[in-house]
Amino acid sequence: MVERRKPLPVQDAIEKVMALSYESQIETVPLSESDARHLGVDLKADHDVPPFDRSPYDGFAIRAEDTNEASQENPVRLKVVEEIGAGTVAKKTLNRGEAIRIMTGAPIPNGATAVIMFELVREDAPYIYIKRNVNKGDNISKQGEDASKGEVLLERGTVISPGVKALLATFGYADVPVVKKPEVGIYATGTELLDPNEALQPGKIRNSNAPMVEGQIKAAGGLPTYFGVLEDDFEKCFSSVKRALEEVDILITTGGVSVGDYDYLPAIYEKLGATVLFNKVGMRPGSVTTVAEWNGKILFGLSGNPSACFVGFELFVRPILKRALLSNTPYRLRSKAVLQKDFPKPNPFTRFVRSKTEEVEGTVHVKPTGLDKSGSVTSLAEANALTVLPGGTRGFKAGDVVEILHLREGGSSHS
Ligand code: AMP
Ligand code: MG
Repeated sequence: MVERRKPLPVQDAIEKVMALSYESQIETVPLSESDARHLGVDLKADHDVPPFDRSPYDGFAIRAEDTNEASQENPVRLKVVEEIGAGTVAKKTLNRGEAIRIMTGAPIPNGATAVIMFELVREDAPYIYIKRNVNKGDNISKQGEDASKGEVLLERGTVISPGVKALLATFGYADVPVVKKPEVGIYATGTELLDPNEALQPGKIRNSNAPMVEGQIKAAGGLPTYFGVLEDDFEKCFSSVKRALEEVDILITTGGVSVGDYDYLPAIYEKLGATVLFNKVGMRPGSVTTVAEWNGKILFGLSGNPSACFVGFELFVRPILKRALLSNTPYRLRSKAVLQKDFPKPNPFTRFVRSKTEEVEGTVHVKPTGLDKSGSVTSLAEANALTVLPGGTRGFKAGDVVEILHLREGGSSHS
């Protein structure tokens, strides 16, 4: 008899997964290898930025009050007494009627209260002539104007972008505390599966899920371990899964999670004594997605159908990986778009359609990328979004405004 499974609403299923605990660890990596990692500590300014008042231009450091009487007709004459570049500190203190030639980034000399750019003075060594009144504080980048000492600039869990690297360098992080990548094991199950280097044979297909899931794990910031393909044999699958659980905290299997004769994952969870959080979700594709917990380890039983496998990962695995990486934003970005295709059939389940967005005159349009079947693999390649079509409606029409989940950043063919 086929077991009856009660579908859980997608949101409830996500919440159940996110309620699972995962202990994050911190490790240190060189700054040059910290790209795309997640910060392991709050980044606090331990000094002011800039650390001293400095010149934002090449010009002359002056005492603003010396220019009070300056005008087109009566330029003020100042004597240039020193010259400093970035990285050097002036030896002299400015006295009345004096100027110091100063380059961008150099500290403001003692006594100086403003900087005037080269373009605004006439030089006749050793003098300069100024034809306007300069205000106190003009062209001085004040100490601490960018960041002040003690300020928390970034929270732990922030992804290290090039801009974050600049900040890390500013505060002397030659080595960066980052969150250790969660290790995620992958097993593909199915007697029909061939490796990419094998020739096609009757009845067989190539295993596309494992490389895809590997890519999804990496993109989320995890560390994948691919254990290989398992043929549909209960004992072999059981012992392999059990062994893998000794090595990783999170194990993803693809396939064998449905109710077919060779779908052994449900029996494997049972024999392990794992706690099944859910084994049916009110979504298409991927309704058979199963999540279980065993000895503090998390097992994700994703569907073998490529599109279902992909969506199952995005909805359930990715957020918990991001949470493990201490991210404050573990979920995919959502926004609205205008649907470009009819979906006339009512569906009790929420659909996640692999889609592509396009901006037309300031409005985001979204359309499916290909065959809308859970077994489709081609629809995945170009998808940059999932169109969310909630269940329990009478269908959707082109022109409807729908919600989309963004999968990645896009580029543009024009500048
Ligand atoms: P299953 O979930 O095992 O019932 O498999 C559902 C469908 O997905 C079947 O058509 C399988 O052949 C296919 N499938 C299973 N695993 C993979 C895989 N790793 N790569 C590509 N297709 C797969
Ligand atoms: Mg199978």
